[in-house]
Amino acid sequence: MDGGTDIKEIYENVMNILEDLTSNAHKLQEQVLEEILKSNAGTEYLSRFFPNGQADKQSFKTNVPIITYEDIKPYIDRIANGETPSILLAYRITQFIQSSGTSGGQPKLIPMTAESFEKRMYEPLLADLVIKRCFNGSDEGKSLYLYFIKPEMETPSGLVASLYTTFYFKTKSFKTGLAKFCTSPIETILCSDNKQSMFCQLLTGLLQRDEVVRMGSSFASVLPRSIKFLDDYWKELCSNIRTGYLSDWITDAGCRNAMSLILTRPNPEMADLIQQICEDKSWEGIIKKLWPKIKYITSICTGSMSQYIPLLEFYGGGIPLVSPNYSSSEACFGINLKPLSKPFDVSYTFLPNTAYFEFLPVNKDGGGKAQDTRTIDKPVDLVNVKLGQYYEVVVTTLTGLYRYRIGDVLKVTGFYNKSPQFQFVERQNVVLSIDLDKTTEEDLSKAIMKAKIVLEPLGIMLTTYSSYADTSLMPGRYVLFWELKMKGRNDLPKLDAEIMEQCCCIVEESFDFTYKSLRKGGIISGLELRVVKHGTFDQLMDYYVSKGASITQSKPPSCLKSKEAVKILNSGMVGKFSSSKTMF
Ligand code: AMP
Repeated sequence: MDGGTDIKEIYENVMNILEDLTSNAHKLQEQVLEEILKSNAGTEYLSRFFPNGQADKQSFKTNVPIITYEDIKPYIDRIANGETPSILLAYRITQFIQSSGTSGGQPKLIPMTAESFEKRMYEPLLADLVIKRCFNGSDEGKSLYLYFIKPEMETPSGLVASLYTTFYFKTKSFKTGLAKFCTSPIETILCSDNKQSMFCQLLTGLLQRDEVVRMGSSFASVLPRSIKFLDDYWKELCSNIRTGYLSDWITDAGCRNAMSLILTRPNPEMADLIQQICEDKSWEGIIKKLWPKIKYITSICTGSMSQYIPLLEFYGGGIPLVSPNYSSSEACFGINLKPLSKPFDVSYTFLPNTAYFEFLPVNKDGGGKAQDTRTIDKPVDLVNVKLGQYYEVVVTTLTGLYRYRIGDVLKVTGFYNKSPQFQFVERQNVVLSIDLDKTTEEDLSKAIMKAKIVLEPLGIMLTTYSSYADTSLMPGRYVLFWELKMKGRNDLPKLDAEIMEQCCCIVEESFDFTYKSLRKGGIISGLELRVVKHGTFDQLMDYYVSKGASITQSKPPSCLKSKEAVKILNSGMVGKFSSSKTMF
């Protein structure tokens, strides 16, 4: 913010910009598409859909197919291997963004250009100002934002591929902008050892506890993880504060240097105070106690992140939880214009100048799961979506994505001027999710089919399976339920622990890149396999029928959503195995 500029004036300008954008949604969407076609219609990918050379909106809608990543992957691979980006887009690629979505076990790579980076920064900035406007005095003080980086990759052509956030934290824009208001020195954010980084970020956060007015992270999963870390390390953190000496195991030079400017003297009074708070038997409201001036917590807590809301409400002790925006590696979609709404009621208002959006209607069955009955050829434009209807979002961007299915299902909850507001419903086909991992029904089934091969020579059959993400403990884990029997008989097989653990490992080995890196980093713990006796899944089906499911719908869900269902399967458990000792 410019020194001397009245903050009220800035907020007023932001609201005027939003009024303008949302009132002109239709016009802006047309302009975005025109610009994309004007610059990119001549690329190898797009030009074949415009045989007459006429690249207008109508031909775009009739000729260009709706695709997924797999359709565009050959072009991405060619660019990654050194061919010119102009086969896909008209701009120079500065790097690839790695998406947490995966393809064939590898992260998806999305092209980024200098222009797209500039545009991307705009949306979180708007979201941030909209939030600050709702909390008096929140433009003052500091932010305890827990940010981390992930290792980068390099493509054969020398282009870097990294998470968007990793790229952003290394830019001058971050250094000279947001970083100035954060309690964490930039060196601690850029430290590639996440444990050292976390320790130092919590330490600086505690040292500046009286200045902190907001806490946050990109995704909500990071915050309970940080509180768990605090639980494990508060004694050592207090000792560092008490003595003024940084623990020896912090060996990262950047961290040590940065911390030497903050941890400058012994502060036994502060250490005593923090110790007293942490010694409390209950950690309910711990965030409020440790950082008494916090006005709100900001972090994406919709979609798969909503599982962390109860924990955050518990630790926050009444501090409002704000979910700022909805975006992905592919595009920025929208921001939350009602920061004070309850986390489960959050909707995002789409910003019509960020990409060209289309929406595939999705039918919902009685059970509330998105069915695969999209009318692929009948997508609707942004301004034509209907209130209460479910859609899958499709984007066209300047960076080489044309009618690209994001895979997210959204529900229209209202309109702000002409721009629709959406609630995030689910990621298509994702059944298990912890932190940034998104394991699809297909990933799960493939992994289990591979693992069960080990049992076949022993005459053991896997008759049914299900799963759930157990986040009651930190770190969370995936739990599989397997009903096993001997071939030809219903007897329970004798279970060999070594073989069952091998099954756990095969399942984990088959999961994708994101799962493995989170598992390696200790963010997800070892998969657990619970074997249930024959007939347990019948009890589960009886339960579903008692709740109104059709008798003919005989397949159990691949992922359990209710505690009751988990309880039923647990009651039939005859053995529990884990890969925790044997993997990574
Ligand atoms: P990535 O491409 O790795 O950044 O992941 C993007 C995906 O994260 C989106 O397609 C959504 O599935 C999910 N996501 C991002 N923002 C939100 C949000 N505000 N609420 C729910 N899910 C989100």
